[in-house]
Amino acid sequence: MKDLFVKSTGETSDIVEKEMFSLQDQGGRDLALRPEGTPGIVRAYINNNLSQEGHASKLFYIGSMFRAERPQAGRYREFEQIGVESLGNGHPAADAECILALRHFLESVGLAGKTRLRLNNIGCDEDPSCRPAYRKELRAFLDARSGELCDNCRRRMDRNPLRALDCKKDGPKLSENAPRLRPCGKCRVHVETVSRLLEENACGHVFPDSNLVRGLDYYTSTVFEFQADGIGAQDAVAGGGRYDTLVASMGGKPTPAVGWALGVERLLMAVLAHDSSGSSLAKISAPPKTDVYLVLATKDAEAVSKGVEIIESLRRFGIRAGGGLFSLSLKAQMREAGRQQVRYTVVLGEDELKKSPPTCKLKDMESGAQEDVALTDLLENIGNKLSKSELDLPQGA
Ligand code: AMP
Repeated sequence: MKDLFVKSTGETSDIVEKEMFSLQDQGGRDLALRPEGTPGIVRAYINNNLSQEGHASKLFYIGSMFRAERPQAGRYREFEQIGVESLGNGHPAADAECILALRHFLESVGLAGKTRLRLNNIGCDEDPSCRPAYRKELRAFLDARSGELCDNCRRRMDRNPLRALDCKKDGPKLSENAPRLRPCGKCRVHVETVSRLLEENACGHVFPDSNLVRGLDYYTSTVFEFQADGIGAQDAVAGGGRYDTLVASMGGKPTPAVGWALGVERLLMAVLAHDSSGSSLAKISAPPKTDVYLVLATKDAEAVSKGVEIIESLRRFGIRAGGGLFSLSLKAQMREAGRQQVRYTVVLGEDELKKSPPTCKLKDMESGAQEDVALTDLLENIGNKLSKSELDLPQGA
């Protein structure tokens, strides 16, 4: 139904204002061709009570989207998106995980070093001193310049002044003097942690960009976009961000969430721009379920960094790894590992990390056997346990 997108994607988004193909059926109901995937995923999450099943749901979709845009290279009226949504995890590690997974995917199709990550934090509405105060300030700034603004920015100035910053026409001239968001304490810690986790995991070419707003109304806090080289003006291959208020606004219980969508046509353009045979695409394979789950027994920032690093290195080694619910208690994280029926759990605790060399507990979830393993030996140890055929190794390895 059309209403789903009006209420979630947002009345001030370009998609709803100008780009939605809408129609009425014989029963007089207002329908729309799906312009994006997140609202449908959130509706399914609520209607199927997925929040009851565990603490976090990681979902994906692949499908056609439709937007009434002016067609040009890389911008079509029907296009294919791959999207992922991580619902129920408000920890900055979830943002980093989403971004790193996307980077991992881009690298696996031959785009290593061929993309740039733009990253911003657009604040939250919980703290009046954060985005609400910024909106007011920006609104006054735009008001004083309304004569110079395009029709779109003038129209959206009251309800969504932030959009003026990434307007193709007005953004560049406003960006120099426009007031900047002063994030509240919570948002500042969030963005600093996300940036640190990305940096620690060598997520190269990250550009903090305070003009990045993204077109959908539901974003809060982190927003990001990967731009690819060599594909012309429509160079955003994928984008996403946090949407911590969307589930509740659609009738679910308050659930933090973060996700992204990738445009398949633009991805193919980028791959073919660097590898005209497209041979790197043959390496894509769908990984089955998680084998190893990382759990933190401490909330210590260094342990969080270590945790994200270990999940990343397990995945790079070809091991299907999960975890990252670091806001939860140890017990709740273990419960989640059990629910996902993983084969091994890696537990990182403060004492083990202080040892020289630092260690972790590796638990076989089937037999219950537990051993201390030096972190330096972890990949090899788990790699030996999982038979080679079960690893998600690159072809030819
Ligand atoms: P969005 O859903 O607007 O956040 O866009 C996510 C990704 O979908 C973009 O980075 C593009 O790769 C792709 N995309 C969005 N709109 C179009 C379009 N009209 N034609 C082709 N790809 C698109």
